[in-house]
Amino acid sequence: MAEVTSKKVEESNGESLFVLDAAVIGAGVAGLYQLYQLREQGLNVRAFDTAGGVGGTWYWNRYPGAKFDSASYIYQYLFSEELYKGWSWTEKFPGQPEIERWMNYVADTLDLRGDIQFDTTIESAHYDEDRGRWTLTTVAGQVIDTQFLVGCCGMLSAPMSDLFEGQSSFKGQIFHTARWPRETVELKGKRVGVIGNGATGIQVIQTIAPEVGELKVFIRTPQYVNAMNNPQYGPAEVEEYKSKFEYFQERLPNTFAGFEFNFDNGAWADQTPEQRQAVLERIWNNGSLELWIASFSEMFFDEDVNEQVSEFVRNKMRERLKDKELCDLLIPTDYGFGTHRVPLESGYLEAYHLPHVSIVSVKDNPVKRITPEGIQLTDGTTHQFDVIILATGFDAGSGALTRIDIRGRDGRSLKEQWQQDITTTMGLQICGYPNLFTTGAPLAPSAALCNMTTCLQQQTEWITECIQHLRTNDLQVIEATREAEDAWVKHHDETADATLVTKTNSWYMGSNIEGKPRRLLSYIGGVGAYRQKCTEVADQGYPGFEMH
Ligand code: NAP
Repeated sequence: MAEVTSKKVEESNGESLFVLDAAVIGAGVAGLYQLYQLREQGLNVRAFDTAGGVGGTWYWNRYPGAKFDSASYIYQYLFSEELYKGWSWTEKFPGQPEIERWMNYVADTLDLRGDIQFDTTIESAHYDEDRGRWTLTTVAGQVIDTQFLVGCCGMLSAPMSDLFEGQSSFKGQIFHTARWPRETVELKGKRVGVIGNGATGIQVIQTIAPEVGELKVFIRTPQYVNAMNNPQYGPAEVEEYKSKFEYFQERLPNTFAGFEFNFDNGAWADQTPEQRQAVLERIWNNGSLELWIASFSEMFFDEDVNEQVSEFVRNKMRERLKDKELCDLLIPTDYGFGTHRVPLESGYLEAYHLPHVSIVSVKDNPVKRITPEGIQLTDGTTHQFDVIILATGFDAGSGALTRIDIRGRDGRSLKEQWQQDITTTMGLQICGYPNLFTTGAPLAPSAALCNMTTCLQQQTEWITECIQHLRTNDLQVIEATREAEDAWVKHHDETADATLVTKTNSWYMGSNIEGKPRRLLSYIGGVGAYRQKCTEVADQGYPGFEMH
């Protein structure tokens, strides 16, 4: 086994230089577990995070109404029964404050805090081929020298927050949802404008609508929604879900999307219209993401099936909206249900029945700029506000990594490369960037079609095992080959192109950002199938990866 060579040395100017075996960027769901595993393996490892605390997504997204869309009992670490059973959720879909407390519980229970450096942004990461090591530099000028670099930066962590001309001129308060302040933001009685109605915007809108003085929602693309059923949990419910720990451990990594449910409803073609309707009704009433990722898989491939499921959901929305004009503005007609993220909601549609809530359609009259008074549209109309909320999403998948100046072999820049074409090898490594591992990265199953904790545990465990393999065999460097990367990209694209997801515009395809190369950012072949492929690679001694 290779020796642990790392140490922390003092430089002459008094600045400490960390010499590490592994540096982990991010202290969210992936980062905490990656740090834990590599430390357990005996590596000198340290995590770095821009945030002032742990949680990643659940640290930053503290906007009103932020909550889980995965059930709390499966959005969990499953490697430790003690850790799982040591925490009790108060409801099926808890809110951000409870989730952030849980992430702190995880960090404390695993005693991770001492190995995390908060308030630290990694600005650059450069690979030195001669030494086979990475040099990281922080915004504050600190230098870190490490053999392995693991990106646990999140798939949805680079907010599209500086989007409109004139934003800084606004005289009121303006917030991106993923940079919501820790302090209470007073919205009572205020005139509020919300741009964006994705999963985030919907949670914000339904939460603030009752308290604000006036709410205008700027909608470009309407959303299919699925009503959430959120039972509260007392001791009996908690005991019940905890008793299924072993079942979840076995089940979650092997389903299509890492949830407890799977496509177990039989083939669409084998059923009568009445039988299909009964299945859809039953699942609809469960009030979870099941309708989307575990009703009928044909919905992702067959336009006719997709249209029938879409119409089922449209009818559910019509029943609640009643008003024809609201139906026209809020019910999608030009893309199919499930071809991008389906948000869960609680009273979102009813919020538009409130007299002080209105919709501004920006489909044909886009937002032009932010003025000192409010939001100006292309036709010159200005809407005046005290507060503007940008629920405008993220530079998903690639943004977290391209916002760092990452240079691989021969000084190649990941940012420049991904401006042309976004590729990875199974989302775990990138050809040209030795000893760099990634999680929640493009071309692996991730936020788009996966319960994040399921996917991130599997990915970090694969990385841990891979590093262990190198050390056991006295190998210093690993890099995905060009052939392996090309083969993965080809398989990924073929799998994606067989579905309707690639025909719809959304962050899944990178189309929320002008000029971003178009490719489905998440692997859609299924979490179980992906896991199997990754395991095979490891079991066969990492074919497709060069090691020395
Ligand atoms: P998003 O899905 O990308 O939605 C962004 C919204 O902003 C869209 O409605 C988009 O309209 C709109 N928008 C962007 N630029 C605009 C512009 N210039 N003018 C007008 N509208 C504009 O982002 P998100 O809602 O933050 O959600 C991102 C992902 O985060 C979700 O898909 C989900 O995976 C995750 N999420 C998870 C949870 C949870 O699990 N609890 C909660 C929230 C979010 P267009 O559609 O027309 O582009």
